[in-house]
Amino acid sequence: MPVRTCVGCNKKKEKSELVRLVCAGGSPVIDDSGCLSGRGAYICRSVECIMSVAAKKGRLSRAFKKETEAPDPDLFRKRLGL
Ligand SMILES: [Zn+2]
Repeated sequence: MPVRTCVGCNKKKEKSELVRLVCAGGSPVIDDSGCLSGRGAYICRSVECIMSVAAKKGRLSRAFKKETEAPDPDLFRKRLGL
């Protein structure tokens, strides 16, 4: 099982436990299908990790290797049903 690191808590987890994000038009979007192109970042399905990334968007920019807006925590929580 492939392992990825969460951009929120920095913990390594199985890919299936994490949500893939990609940078679309300068903003992070959730890639439910796993088929959006571009460099992905991974995050836990957890409010703490979403809040952490919203506060420190530099982590996402590093993961995407390009500048990105911070995620909208409310939107992400709604999308992930948290
Ligand atoms: Zn996490």
